[in-house]
Parts: sequence; structure tokens; C-alpha cells
Amino acid sequence: MPKAQETVLEIDLNAVKHNLDYLKSKITSSTKFLAVVKAFAYGNDAEEIALYLQELNVDYFAVAYTSEGIHLRKAGVTKPILVLHPLPVSFKALIENCLEPNIYNHKVLSEFIEVATNEGQTNYPIHLKFNTGLNRLGFSISDLESIHSKIENTATVKIKSMFSHLAASEDLNERSFTLNQISTFKSIIENFESLFGFLPLIHMCNTSGILNYPEAHFDMVRSGIGLYGFGNSEEEDKNFKPIASLKSVISQIHHIEKGESVGYNRAFKSDAEQKTATIPIGHADGISRIYGNGKGYVIINGRKAPLVGNVCMDMIMVNVTGIDCEEGDEVIVFDADHTANDLAHNANTISYELITAVSQRVKRIVKK
Ligand SMILES: *Cc1c(COP(=O)(O)O)cnc(C)c1O
Repeated sequence: MPKAQETVLEIDLNAVKHNLDYLKSKITSSTKFLAVVKAFAYGNDAEEIALYLQELNVDYFAVAYTSEGIHLRKAGVTKPILVLHPLPVSFKALIENCLEPNIYNHKVLSEFIEVATNEGQTNYPIHLKFNTGLNRLGFSISDLESIHSKIENTATVKIKSMFSHLAASEDLNERSFTLNQISTFKSIIENFESLFGFLPLIHMCNTSGILNYPEAHFDMVRSGIGLYGFGNSEEEDKNFKPIASLKSVISQIHHIEKGESVGYNRAFKSDAEQKTATIPIGHADGISRIYGNGKGYVIINGRKAPLVGNVCMDMIMVNVTGIDCEEGDEVIVFDADHTANDLAHNANTISYELITAVSQRVKRIVKK
């Protein structure tokens, strides 16, 4: 890769393959693999990544919202796409694009059946989500009978899968809570089978579930963060390769005298002579204000340069005192060695937030 001359997010598809291969080594060959590509594939590039994963034969995709699924269909994704958080206002568009809704409560079930019936559908695939402790979206075990009676009377929909979501799969201190979620889900599965007389596809694990709870892999697993290169623990991080590098360039260098300030609100006041570099990336590009005032850093010629003062909309200033650098030099915000995870932890947040925040203004360069 040539050195960055502007702010760019480089995406390495070989690293995606490495991560997929590693995750697949953790499941049996008959376990299906669903790739979670919501939120622009966690801030990367959903279309390029989904098309590549489709070539690598993943079984399923998931997005959060219908509009995200429509983009994938337009880009040429033909595999099934589960919409994790569909809203009734978009059901018609969802059906027109052959997307498959997560059905999480009675209101959504009734409204979906109504729209699908009006659209002349039969056996339209739906996925039932059950709440086993996350308390976010999902039916409970006591809803099974009423789901059954609603679905018995219609040929409009068919249940393609049932699933649940773990609340703390990455946190081994919460192991007993997670085991309890798994056993609750198993009871739901048993009750489902005795009521409905069959079982659809069953799935529960996200990335950390795949790594930590092999007993909960069921028929399919769902991975997002792992595909993008993070294992949610120091040990597991070693087995993954971060796929994205966020790079920029030094626009200008300033020599700051003792007593001068840097940036808005004069948040930084110098108590000695300093050298700062101004970089064309700001909160509008996804570098949140929490990284300001020394919480975050960038890498310049191999050295850490901490942020000075407040993050601006389009720029940050960093302290390069003692770092051999000049205007035009490349700046690394994160890459495979200086990871988004490390930077995020420094500011008390998580890799998921930092990588999904990289805004659409930042040019994506996909390395094949
Ligand atoms: C986002 C999401 C996932 C992916 O989780 P990771 O921790 O990124 O692997 C899986 N399942 C559901 C329901 C999700 O919302």
C-alpha cells in the first residue's frame, strides 16, 4: 500500500478470510455460519465484505435494518439475509427485497402476517427471537402457545429459525448467567418442538459465544466482531487479524511556546515549548471527543503521539514533541499492530464503538 495522503480506511480482505477460517475451525462442518454485516459491516464496507463472504460460501447474512439489507441486495448479495431489527414501517420493502425478518413480539408478528398476506405471500420465511436474559428484543417462553395459535391459522409465513442472543458471552465472570441463558433457551426449544411438532434452524452464539460456549453452537452461529478481527479478550485477539487500518497525514506542524494554548476552548495550555501536528480527521470522521486531551493517540513514524486539546469536527492536534516528523508524513490511527481495541480501551470504550463510528466521509480502500 502506498502511504496515505489523506484520511483513508484500508480494508484487507485477506484478513477477513483469516478470521472466517479461524471462526470456522471452532465449529463443526455441519454448523452453518451467519455473517453479521450490520452498520456497514461494523464501519468497514458492507457491500464489498458481504460479496467477498458470499464467494467464501457463508450461509447467511444479518443486518440490523431493512434499508441495510436492500443495499446488499442491490450490490448483488443473493444469500438469505436476516433483518435483526425490522420495523413494521418497512415490512413491504423487506418483502419486495426477499429479506427475512426477526419477529420478536406479538405486535410485529401480527403486522408482518398482515402485510405479507396483502402482498400475496405464502410460506414467507420468518425468524422467531426469544429473550433469555438480555431483555432487549424477544418473545418469552410463555408466548409460545399464542405464537402457535397465530401461525397455525395462516399459510402466509413459515418459521425458518428460532434464536436467542447472549448478554455476556465474552465475560467469563458471568459464566453461570450465560449457562442459565443457554438452559432457558433449551427449554424454549423443547416446548416449541412439542407444540409445533418440528424444529426450525436454531442459533444463539455471537463471536464470543462461538469461542467460549461450544455447547451452544446449535445449527448456526452468528459472528460480527470476529470477522473484523477482534476476539474480545487478550488471548483470543491473538488469533484474529484486524481487517481495517485508519490512516491519515500530517497537514501542518506548529511550534507552541510556553503559555500558548491549542484548539477550541483553549483546552490545552502549554507549560513548556511543544511541537504539535494537525491531522485532517475529527469527530465528524468518527474520532469522538472522548479521545481528546490525552485520552487518545495516533502513531507517527512508529511513536505514539497523544491528542492535544479538544477534538474538532474535521481535525485533531497531537503532541509530536521529540518525534522526528514533517508535514505530509503518514499517521496511523489504528491498524493491525496498533489496534482499534487498544485505542478504544485507553478511552474507556470498546472496539465495536470505535470501528463502527468511522464515518462515511472517510474513503474506503479495499485490498483484495
Ligand atoms: C450484532 C449481533 C451479533 C454479532 O455479535 P458479535 O459480538 O459482533 O459477534 C449477533 N447476534 C445478534 C442478535 C446481534 O445483534
